[in-house]
Amino acid sequence: MSVEESPLPGVEPIRKIIVAIDGPAGAGKSTIARHLAQHFGLLNLETGAMYRAFALKALRASVPLDDAAALEALAAETTVRLEPGDENNRVLLDEEDVTGLIRNPMVTSAASRVSVFPSIRSWMVRLQQQLGAGGGVVMEGRDIGTVVFPQAEVKIFLDAAPEVRGMRRYDQMGPKPATQPEDVIRELRTRDERDRNRADSPLKPAEDAVLLDSTDMTLEQAVQAAEAIVTAKLA
Ligand code: C5P
Repeated sequence: MSVEESPLPGVEPIRKIIVAIDGPAGAGKSTIARHLAQHFGLLNLETGAMYRAFALKALRASVPLDDAAALEALAAETTVRLEPGDENNRVLLDEEDVTGLIRNPMVTSAASRVSVFPSIRSWMVRLQQQLGAGGGVVMEGRDIGTVVFPQAEVKIFLDAAPEVRGMRRYDQMGPKPATQPEDVIRELRTRDERDRNRADSPLKPAEDAVLLDSTDMTLEQAVQAAEAIVTAKLA
């Protein structure tokens, strides 16, 4: 695991704070995290990309996605690194750049499945804690405010109705000859359910998180609301 040194060139972090952004898929976490990182001069770290990279390795190795012991053995011989960039993180799996390979439906579903296992989670949480140890980061995921950085200065739990999240995802997709909005909404619900109901670190707001429901907002409005939350916390 490693992080490159500074955030965006010319932007000085105001303070070495940690901003934790959690919430279900399609709630707008990535857009908001990216914006907050740029605005406040912080590193943007996408923890979902780490689970996705490991899921890609499991798929390539044909390891059954419900075999906890085999996944744990695979994890023991795997390195996952994130390098923050202007837009998205660069994701390195065993030093191979897999950034462009981890956003397809098969990897998405596999990431959701491998992330239920405590041994995989504790490995990832350790790596994420190392990444954010110096502060000055926006970290987004499902368990950042509850498990990875319970001491984060700012915690935002971002939510929106499943239909709204599904439509946003659908609109962001490129050519989609066979995909219907209902398919996207169904897939989001399946992942949500798995995230919310797993025994280890289920998706839920930290007690001290600020809840931001963007159902009736544009993403632009949600970004502004998140910015106001961080500004208020820093004041
Ligand atoms: O955020 P993203 O959709 O890229 O995450 C992919 C999957 O990884 C999620 O569906 C979730 O199951 C898992 N994940 C997690 N904990 C995190 C980040 C992602 O369990 N902190």
